[in-house]
Amino acid sequence: MDVPFLSLKDVNARHADELKAAAARVIDSGWYVLGQEVAAFEREFADYCGVRHAIGVGNGLDALSLILRAYKELDMLHDGDEVIVPGNTFIASFLAITENRLVPVPVEPHPASFNIDPARVAAAIGPRTRAIMAVHLYGRLADMPALVELAQEHHLLLIEDAAQAHGAMHGERKAGAFGHAAGFSFFPAKNLGALGDGGAVVTNDSVLAARVSALRNYGSEMKYHHAYQGINSRLDELQAALLRVKLKYLDEDIALRRAVALRYRQSIHHKDIHLPSTEREEQNTWHLFVVRCTQRDALQRHLRAHGIQSQIHYPIPPHRQLAYPALHGLHLQLTEQLHEEVLSLPIGPTLREEDVDRVVDACQTFECPA
Ligand SMILES: *Cc1c(COP(=O)(O)O)cnc(C)c1O
Repeated sequence: MDVPFLSLKDVNARHADELKAAAARVIDSGWYVLGQEVAAFEREFADYCGVRHAIGVGNGLDALSLILRAYKELDMLHDGDEVIVPGNTFIASFLAITENRLVPVPVEPHPASFNIDPARVAAAIGPRTRAIMAVHLYGRLADMPALVELAQEHHLLLIEDAAQAHGAMHGERKAGAFGHAAGFSFFPAKNLGALGDGGAVVTNDSVLAARVSALRNYGSEMKYHHAYQGINSRLDELQAALLRVKLKYLDEDIALRRAVALRYRQSIHHKDIHLPSTEREEQNTWHLFVVRCTQRDALQRHLRAHGIQSQIHYPIPPHRQLAYPALHGLHLQLTEQLHEEVLSLPIGPTLREEDVDRVVDACQTFECPA
């Protein structure tokens, strides 16, 4: 039997009875879009994040995109404005920016954290810069105190792409509560995953919250009255009901992920496999456990031969994707190197101890080709 990268079946099987009861409640209610379940989940998720508002939307990309769109509607962003974004991120961070006719300015990460480097952000701020999009990559909080300070100093909007980092903390504050607004994803494989697509915008700004709330629903605040040209991107009642079940177990699941990460960090000692660092346990929710190896493909083949699934997050950076020919001229040395070297080991709340041992043993026996 393979060691799975992440078994969603196992993840959800633990709560099968509760999930089925929640689904039955929605089926029997006869109300499927924008009802009590979404309202309740929005309240519960806002409380969890420690913010005033959460707005359920269709997915994580729409969450990010609707934040930027709402700022445009509020006359705070305009076509052609620049948004600083990490060069090494999932393409959704870029798509949200370009979809709104804004200009992504990719910045290199700090090599120890994989997260955007505030010193390089400072250097990238120019006359057209209007916003910073921080991404808490792999579940680890970006350096938010430094980014909050930069945003304040330069009067920039600070938006968090928190799709991978539900519950990550710095001090008493959680991911989503540092910037002016944040986007979350509930894609099934995320740390808080629905059984389909889902997402949320969170913010303390009541004006922004109201605008996002209208924009996700055809630009409507009152049925059949349309103040804005909105879209249709709503979290549905079924997913909200399922997410309410799963939110109760999020902290437990994060603790289980931390235990796996700790075990890897204590037990994998290999001169060619570089482990991720983390200064404080609470800042990292270990959505992914990403190692670096100059012979990454050989390491992946070796693990494969030992029955261990691994993945690459991500093989091609956004500025090298076919979708972005205009960005092909950029050279981001560290970002490009990381994409050649990163490998994600199995991690999740249901990974068994003996499977963790198998991963450790397989790593230890890797012979790195010169
Ligand atoms: C998953 C993800 C998204 C997009 O979320 P979807 O729900 O898949 O649209 C955005 N940013 C990052 C960093 C992600 O990992």
